[in-house]
Amino acid sequence: MWPLWPRQPVTIAPDMVQIGAKGCAVTAIVHRDEVTLIDAGARGSLPLISRGLEAAGLHLSRVRHVVLTHYHPDHSGGLGELVRATGARVAAHSTEADIYTGQGLAPNPFRWRPYAVAARPFLRYAYGNPVEIDWRLGDGDRLPWLDGIDVIHVPGHTAGSISLYVRAHRALVVGDALQFRFGRLTGPASAVTRDPALALLSIRKLLAVDFDTICFSHFRPLSQGAAAFVRRFVERSSRAEPPTAREI
Ligand SMILES: [Zn+2]
Repeated sequence: MWPLWPRQPVTIAPDMVQIGAKGCAVTAIVHRDEVTLIDAGARGSLPLISRGLEAAGLHLSRVRHVVLTHYHPDHSGGLGELVRATGARVAAHSTEADIYTGQGLAPNPFRWRPYAVAARPFLRYAYGNPVEIDWRLGDGDRLPWLDGIDVIHVPGHTAGSISLYVRAHRALVVGDALQFRFGRLTGPASAVTRDPALALLSIRKLLAVDFDTICFSHFRPLSQGAAAFVRRFVERSSRAEPPTAREI
């Protein structure tokens, strides 16, 4: 299990929990009888997801949909085994859909060449088995669960990164668009971020929605006043280094 995540699921709301998988936290959303998972964890995550769901009073057999925040293998490597076990339908940003189906090349996540070279032999394994994508998402799409879950395209960490706004709970599931290290909000890790300047511009975009909670992939959620943290981060980062005028 990802070592920093508590053994028990973290409850955001009675119908929304975060579960520790291999590599990242998976967010489970319950709508009527169906469970939607946001992200699938690294390859080999299935037993942890199954146990986490049971600890939350749910069951793997109720998983009907998986939404991916981006293609990095710590988020998507477990997708093949999850879909095989559940028959879930899969949604991902259109830019990255062909990576999951095997029709597109799976990029090396590392920007620093020595890391990229060291990781290369393991990537094919880490990405897991190809999976069909049932919904190719774009910015502004609304997924139908709870009171609607809005897709926000936040390119930068990867080209097709998305964050998901769960309207019913004023909660943002940000994927790797944000980190929360030592009480401080930061942008995505630069070693695995394709375009850091664009990633900063994308963070500003999150302020357009009315959220109070942020669910991260690698840190415990920030459950009160999260928007103020993001506003402060944006102010800090714009003073430090004005972003380029590139359009999101
Ligand atoms: Zn990532």
